[in-house]
Amino acid sequence: MTPGASHAVGIDLGGTKIELLLLDESGKSLWRERVTTPQGDYRATLATIAALVARAEAETRTTGASIGVGTPGSETAEGLIRNANSTCLNGQPLRRDLELLLGRPVRLANDANCLALSEATDGAGAGAAVVFAVILGTGVGGGWAMNGQLLAGANGLAGEWGHNPLPWAAAQDAPAAACYCGQTGCVETWLSGPALARDHAAHGGESLSAQQIAQHATAGDAQCEASLERYEARLARALAAVINLLDPDVIVLGGGVSKMDRLYRNVPRLWERHVFSAGARQSLRTRLVPSLHGDASGVRGAAWLWRERLDPAHR
Ligand SMILES: [Zn+2]
Repeated sequence: MTPGASHAVGIDLGGTKIELLLLDESGKSLWRERVTTPQGDYRATLATIAALVARAEAETRTTGASIGVGTPGSETAEGLIRNANSTCLNGQPLRRDLELLLGRPVRLANDANCLALSEATDGAGAGAAVVFAVILGTGVGGGWAMNGQLLAGANGLAGEWGHNPLPWAAAQDAPAAACYCGQTGCVETWLSGPALARDHAAHGGESLSAQQIAQHATAGDAQCEASLERYEARLARALAAVINLLDPDVIVLGGGVSKMDRLYRNVPRLWERHVFSAGARQSLRTRLVPSLHGDASGVRGAAWLWRERLDPAHR
């Protein structure tokens, strides 16, 4: 079978569900299926993915589709998965095992990289030269697409902004919390959904989820409003540091916390205070936008993992 023949399969391997999307050569969806992820069972996860691919190809009478997989964590130089919150994947040669099972080459990318590629290809960052995509969810991830191509980096770490320290930290950004990565005060410990909930509780608020804090703020709750203002100020500082580094045209937000409309109004106003500007006020061209494909960006980006190389003219 020739990978990338004309059809592309994207697989979003998540902690709770595995989704498959089969696209034809024009990018049209031919088959889509979502199943529950076998919990804590690596072998069963492999078998579930193989069964999904076999069913999609049988139902659509296609063969040899190229396979891209969006996975938590990333791959070491030795081809082993690391940093995955679905911990049964860690230390496993996921790509190699899938290639053996499926009989063709497989490409892997993490969920934030899939978001970047999906949104840069035909989403909220379509046509932009430099796109930074951020997932604000149970964790915080980031990924880069340059001229429609994924930027993985020398160590596969490009975009791992969630584990930099929160920049321009002030008195109210204490105490810094320990992060699962071993560091303290990572961007993720301030900007994930659970981090927003923790900060709200630390300021005397009741125990609420990020989504509830947003709802209560809309309804006029002053304490929830103050928590969101702290959150927005931190997000603006964290993104200002990204703008100073690679100055993206578009920053796309995905994940549960990205569904708050107010972020797109308030954060660009706040980041101007921190982006490098000696003396003169400037208005930035950087656009902060919600992802167009939402939760489907993971599986769509995975499907594009081969297409971007096969057709470099594609935008
Ligand atoms: Zn960390």
